[in-house]
Amino acid sequence: MKMKKTDPATARPAGEISSGRLRAIAVLVREFEREVLGKLIEGNSMGKDLAPGARRRLLEEDAAGLSLENCARCGSCKARCPVYEITKNEAFSPRGRLMLLKGLAEGRISPAGGLLKRISACLLCGRCDVSCPVGIRPTEFIYRGREALRKLDTGRLMLRTALRMGLRQPAFGLGAARFLFLRGQSDGGKWNEFVKKVFPADIAFPTRLPSPRPSFMPGRSRQTGVIGPRKPSGRVAVFAGCVANYLVPETGEALVSMLVSMGYEVVMPRGEVCCGMPLRGLGLAREAERFAAKNIELFGKLNVEAVVTPCPTCADMIKNRYAELTGGGIEKAMDSTEFFLRKLEGKVAGGGPEPDGHSDGGKQRLIWHEPCHLRYGLGFNAGPVLALLDIERPVEAGCCGLGARLTDAETSEELLSGRVIAYKDAARVVTACPGCRMQLERGGIKTAHILEIIEERFFPETIPAPRD
Ligand code: SF4
Ligand code: SF4
Repeated sequence: MKMKKTDPATARPAGEISSGRLRAIAVLVREFEREVLGKLIEGNSMGKDLAPGARRRLLEEDAAGLSLENCARCGSCKARCPVYEITKNEAFSPRGRLMLLKGLAEGRISPAGGLLKRISACLLCGRCDVSCPVGIRPTEFIYRGREALRKLDTGRLMLRTALRMGLRQPAFGLGAARFLFLRGQSDGGKWNEFVKKVFPADIAFPTRLPSPRPSFMPGRSRQTGVIGPRKPSGRVAVFAGCVANYLVPETGEALVSMLVSMGYEVVMPRGEVCCGMPLRGLGLAREAERFAAKNIELFGKLNVEAVVTPCPTCADMIKNRYAELTGGGIEKAMDSTEFFLRKLEGKVAGGGPEPDGHSDGGKQRLIWHEPCHLRYGLGFNAGPVLALLDIERPVEAGCCGLGARLTDAETSEELLSGRVIAYKDAARVVTACPGCRMQLERGGIKTAHILEIIEERFFPETIPAPRD
């Protein structure tokens, strides 16, 4: 066969795409964009425009020097998105959301109800952040999108105000939440209906009554708490987080008791505030920034081995995501699961208790629910700790939907239904996140925080007697 000769002077280097092919790709991308953006342009405007500052912010580069411009539209992020998985709609995927935000920033689409819905349905789970070959973190731009659309999202005005005030004054917020909860329980649901109209989110119906009992947790204490043996073997700080502080204090208490039992002096600085994630998720970036600055000031300079938190969302926020708000984070922050795994591996190697056969006969089956921020935010592989504690992985893993509870209850509920089916054979579902735990309990699932399982197995002496 006769080979066609190529002129070395004009030959393309290997891997270079011809201009014809580039033109064809550009046409495809434009068609694709028209399909996604077009549905939002027609008759769906909110009648307001974006402030020029918000537009600029959307187009700015992130800390890694990447912007919306850099998205290659490859779709790798889409394959992992739980919301795309249930909607099968491009505009509900990370790639689609980035295109929508780019269209918005460039003035090609106007702020619209449909756009808000698509940006609000994101769980901020971070799965897309770890799938992008270019290195783009779609959630960073989705946070910016929420900030840009905040003023137009009037339906959630009361919710944002309540959350802002409640998190600034937790004692007041806790009292108000208790009032709403008790009132909702006592009048056959009429009050609940009213509250639902005011707050287009399910915040008034937590699965647990906020705990009024006194606690030594940071959010409750009047002064910096320091607890530990007389001659401590080390020093750690605890960042409790709001859910562990106020809604499931037993998790925070188990954490502190076990740390003390291991010989640690535990520091709980007075004045810890919310990590800021819920505020940022509702578009309140500036408020979240203020909270971040306060926590960095309190925890950043402590002379401790680690800042341990029982909530991976808090850990991811204070360690990694504060950099997007303030340029730095709390470097020593660590999720409690990782902290205990490191410590217990040594203990087990020296002869720890035998696994107690939770999985035997299916009666005591413990099934793992993996928090997205633990796996994707912090990059923690739970395999070794699950083997250590004899906890099974479910056949089908998935997100519980908590991330959209305040912004898109429908999506949140749909994802929760999937978890209810996936965990139907579990005696208890074990997770590392107090927030996931509350969401799963909404679906009637019996849960435990992994710290409780660690306590049962390795520190039974620290388990308090049942309260009346
Ligand atoms: S953060 Fe989660 S829900 Fe949001 S776009 Fe990324 S993968 Fe989808
Ligand atoms: S994986 Fe990255 S480059 Fe590919 S579509 Fe998603 S954000 Fe864009």
